[in-house]
Amino acid sequence: MSLNSELKNILLNTLGKISTVRFDVPLSEHTTFRTGGRASIFIEPDEEESLPEILRTLHELKTDFLIIGGGSNLLISDEGLDYAVIKISKEGKKLEKKENLLYASAFMSKENFISEALRLGYGGVSFTAGVPGSVGGGIFMNAGTFMGCFIDILKKIRIVNSDYEIEDIEISKEDSNYRKMNIPEKSIILGGFFELPASAETAAIGKEIDEIIKDRWSKHPMEFPSAGSVFKNPEGHSAWKLVNDCGLKGYTIGGAMVSEKHTNFIINKENATSSDVFNLINHVKKCVMDKFSISLETEVKIIGNFN
Ligand SMILES: Cc1cc2nc3c(=O)[nH]c(=O)nc-3n(C[C@H](O)[C@H](O)[C@H](O)COP(=O)(O)OP(=O)(O)OC[C@H]3O[C@@H](n4cnc5c(N)ncnc54)[C@H](O)[C@@H]3O)c2cc1C
Repeated sequence: MSLNSELKNILLNTLGKISTVRFDVPLSEHTTFRTGGRASIFIEPDEEESLPEILRTLHELKTDFLIIGGGSNLLISDEGLDYAVIKISKEGKKLEKKENLLYASAFMSKENFISEALRLGYGGVSFTAGVPGSVGGGIFMNAGTFMGCFIDILKKIRIVNSDYEIEDIEISKEDSNYRKMNIPEKSIILGGFFELPASAETAAIGKEIDEIIKDRWSKHPMEFPSAGSVFKNPEGHSAWKLVNDCGLKGYTIGGAMVSEKHTNFIINKENATSSDVFNLINHVKKCVMDKFSISLETEVKIIGNFN
């Protein structure tokens, strides 16, 4: 969608001071699936403190937005998005002690979150080894593995609330579900306050983390673009097994394929479009429903229009 030049100028003159503002940006460059159309407005805040002002301005301009971190859990329509995408590109501030907890900016990558925690003498972060993306995306998704998930170590979150104010709110297990954190509506995460166990064994934990990552690389199709596991595990089942038992290993639509290495991954095998991935997701869901009467729910966030 092309924006009128007046709106472009307003955005550049207001938000240009606290962020990088671009227009008509291909989102395939910002998703790990490497698919998706263009964002009509693309905003990269200079720092987390810029976010309240950015959100207030977009609200005044009646412009909707999507916030993204590493784009590692997103399937965005090939049509693109005719509103603003706010991308957390700048690496967040270092992990710091606040109120007896450790504060991590939503802008931090999970990789740096782990290495900073170890550097400061803390453990409790192995569960997120090898999970891509930002701390903000990790909190929002309650990301994790069989070893645990973000809610296990999270005590409070710092958000920009619906009044564009920065607020710290307590968070507990009741506020989370499997791959989902229930944060106040229309708020965005600036960071998290974590309780991590102090450890004298951080070198050993570092080695364990290296092993976990190596193991993940051997089991996951890391040589192709993907968004990790596409489906949530239904209660009492493994999604990969249901897909596998439908004989869908290697099943292909357009450039998208059910991975032969891990059947809960859909990979961008060759120039896939988001529609290829979307159609494949629907095919898999139908097969699993027909064979097992189980409704698969996507873990990947599907955004924009799909026909
Ligand atoms: C190879 C691979 C392996 C993976 N393995 C795992 C795994 O083992 N476990 C797992 O849980 N996930 C896994 N994932 C999925 C993904 O990495 C996680 O969900 C990750 O936490 C998403 O972080 P992100 O920064 O990329 O978020 P994005 O994909 O950018 O966004 C995901 C959602 O979070 C929202 N969001 C992002 N930042 C904020 C913010 N600051 N405030 C409010 N909302 C926000 C977005 O709007 C969107 O709805 C994998 C992905 C890949 C590609």
